[in-house]
Amino acid sequence: MKNSVFPLVDSNASVAPLLIKRIDAIPVSLPLIKPMFMAGVRIEAAHNLVVRIEASNGMVGWGEAASAPLMTGDVQDGMLAVVNQILKPLLIGQNALDHARLARICHAGIHGSGGPKAAVDTALLDLCGKYLDVPVSDLLGGAVHKELRPMYLLGNASNDDNLIEAVEKLKQGIQFFKLKVGVKPVKEEIRFTLQLREELGPFVTLCADANTGYSLSAAKEYLSGIADAGLLFFEQPLRSGDVRGMALLARSTQIPLCADEAISEIKDILDYHAAGAASGINLKTIKIGGMSEAVRAANVCEALGLQINLACKVAESTIGAAALLQLGAVINNLDWGISITNHYLVADLATDPIHAVKGGITLARKPGLGIDVSDAEVNRFRTR
Ligand SMILES: [Mg+2]
Repeated sequence: MKNSVFPLVDSNASVAPLLIKRIDAIPVSLPLIKPMFMAGVRIEAAHNLVVRIEASNGMVGWGEAASAPLMTGDVQDGMLAVVNQILKPLLIGQNALDHARLARICHAGIHGSGGPKAAVDTALLDLCGKYLDVPVSDLLGGAVHKELRPMYLLGNASNDDNLIEAVEKLKQGIQFFKLKVGVKPVKEEIRFTLQLREELGPFVTLCADANTGYSLSAAKEYLSGIADAGLLFFEQPLRSGDVRGMALLARSTQIPLCADEAISEIKDILDYHAAGAASGINLKTIKIGGMSEAVRAANVCEALGLQINLACKVAESTIGAAALLQLGAVINNLDWGISITNHYLVADLATDPIHAVKGGITLARKPGLGIDVSDAEVNRFRTR
């Protein structure tokens, strides 16, 4: 840490320290119920990293991060190496209750590597929350939402299946959908977006995400074709480095643009805002490097008047979902919704998986992440 006029705090001097004794980085492969199709990739299983942090008193905290070669550049072996070789030596023997300081130490400890940093940060916060008997949202500033209503992703190989699934989920109470585009011919995607709006009716919230799969001309064609579809926003049509293209596109349409793959640090948010290239930001802990850093990014977005869509990668188990819900609880400007992804998995890693009831999830005040991770399930899906 840099020198400061303030002494480094022993932030919990009145509470016995919670010394970090052991950190396990566990690679898992979690099969999806069916493949998810998005631009450039067909996802059949989630190759994630689970992090287990054990304190000297025997208490345990859990975190998770998805590999995302096309988004963060993180692959499973690399995430494993970052935790074992870089982050673990920084943390062993430290007081976990200094989680905010430790998050910054980890952040400064290696460039990028948002996934492993996020898994470690989440596990630290889970551990501290359990020890202090408070939910993680309390450690992040306090909840402002008591209930969240996640969106549902439509990413089937065929639009016929997308339609069947959307109608089925609508009957179950889901009122917010994100359609994956950038996969099929643009005229087909325009036709289906309009059909989907017609089928869902005018009051269901609908957005679309091209995952960098469009050229500027294709994105303009899509936006002009679906101008009457009432999309809440259109996410990352162009490749992540094309800020200029996104700015040109933003000036050509009334539909707000969201930046996702382009955002890996707070500076990217400032750059997109300065260029007028997005009206909102998709925040993921694996891109930004943890829950603590995501709160800082959300505060920046709020100050700039940018909307926020908070999301797990496809797919993360209940560990990642619980972390996202705790984060969602404290983010005020969550106007573009939240996306958890554990329900796309064949099996989960917690004994009581998170699931929406009639489209909503009420946030209970439980310690830490508020979940019980199953050692047996983690071991069943671990790859080595
Ligand atoms: Mg996206």
